[in-house]
Amino acid sequence: MNSKASTDNPLMMRTVGWGFVGASNIARQWMADAVRTQENHEVVAIMSNSLSRAKAFAEELNIASAYDSIDALLADPAVDVVYISNTNELHKPAVLAAAKAGKHVFCEKPLALNLADAAAMVKACQQAGVVMATNHHLRNAATHQAVRAELATGTIGQVIGMRIFHAIHLPKPLQTWRVNNPEAGGGVILDVAVHDVDVIRYLLAEDPVDVMAYAQTGGMASKVEDGAMAILQMPSGALVQTHQSFMVPYAGTGLEVHGTHGSIIARDVMSQRATGTVELVNDAGRRQLSIEHHNLYQYALSQFAKAITQGGEPAVTGEDGLKALAIALAMTESAATKQRVAVHYPAV
Ligand code: NDP
Repeated sequence: MNSKASTDNPLMMRTVGWGFVGASNIARQWMADAVRTQENHEVVAIMSNSLSRAKAFAEELNIASAYDSIDALLADPAVDVVYISNTNELHKPAVLAAAKAGKHVFCEKPLALNLADAAAMVKACQQAGVVMATNHHLRNAATHQAVRAELATGTIGQVIGMRIFHAIHLPKPLQTWRVNNPEAGGGVILDVAVHDVDVIRYLLAEDPVDVMAYAQTGGMASKVEDGAMAILQMPSGALVQTHQSFMVPYAGTGLEVHGTHGSIIARDVMSQRATGTVELVNDAGRRQLSIEHHNLYQYALSQFAKAITQGGEPAVTGEDGLKALAIALAMTESAATKQRVAVHYPAV
C-alpha cells in the first residue's frame, strides 16, 4: 500500500507521533530509540493492559501519554502510527483497530497465529489506505543487503543451496511465553524461523514451494518446540536448510549461499545487532565484502518513514509478513505430521 505521496500529506508538515501498543522488551530495547532517530518522529503514547505498567514504561522512556485501552490510544490526536509489539495472539485486534482508525501500522512478527487472521490484517490496512509494515529486522542488516547485492551480480552462478544457522541460547529473562505458551504463539518456529524464512525470500527472491521440518522440545520449553530443522524447496530447484534453537549457546549464527561458481559465507549475521562478516569464495580465492554496518531497526523505520510521507513501500510489507507466516506454519505442520507440506500463500 502506498501512502499519499505529496506535499499535502500532513505527516510531511509536523511531528509524526507513534503510539506503542505493548509495554514490551523489544519496544524498550530497540524501537523507542529507533523511532527517535528519525527526523520529526516521536513516541507520544504507550498502551499496556496494565495502566501501572503503561505509566512506568512512559516514565522510563519519557513518553507523554499512557493508556490501558487501545481505543484511548487511537483517540489520541497525537498518534499517527501504531507500533504493535504485544504478544502474538494480540496483534490482530490491534492492527484491525488501528486500520479502522486510519493509523499507519508497524506490526511485530509473527503477524498472527494463523493465515486467515494475518490476511485479514493485511486486507484491513489495504482497505483503510494505511501503510502496513512487518518487523522482520534481518533483511535490514547491511550484511544481508550485501549478500543480496552479490547474488544479483551472478558471481556465484546458479544457486544450488542455502543454509541458515540460527541456533542460539534464549536469555533467561526471555524464557517466558516464548517457551511455555502456545496460545501466545510461543515456540522457536514462530519466534525465530519466521525471521529466517523472510531472509530466504529476500535473498533468493523466490518463495519456497514446500517444506519438510522436524521439531524438538529439548528441555527449555514445554508445550512448544525449542528446536527445529527444515529443508525448503525453491521454485528454481535450489534447496534451503535451516536450524533454529533456543538451547544452543555456542554454535554461532550465519548463512551460506552456494552456487555453481562460488559460495557466499556470512558469519554472525542472524542478530539484532549490526554485526558480522560476508565472504565470497570462488576460483579467484576468498574475498571479504566491504560492509558498512547500520542499525537494523533504524533502517526499517527510515524506510517506513519514507513510505508514510513520500509513498513507496516499507522494507518489509504486510504481505511479506503474511508470506513468512505461511512458510513458518508449513514448517509447524510438517513437524507435527512428519509429512512434506506445500506452502499455501493466501490471496489478500
Ligand atoms: P515481552 O515479553 O517483553 O512483552 C510482551 C507483552 O508481555 C507486553 O506487551 C506486556 O503486556 C507483557 N508484559 C511485559 N512485562 C510484563 C510483566 N512484568 N508482567 C506481565 N506482563 C508483562 O515481549 P517481547 O518484546 O519479547 O516480544 C514482543 C513482540 O515482539 C512479539 O510479537 C515478538 O515476536 C516480537 N519480537 C520481535 C523482534 C524483532 O526483532 N522483530 C525481537 C523480539 C520480539 P502489556 O502490553 O499488556 O503491558
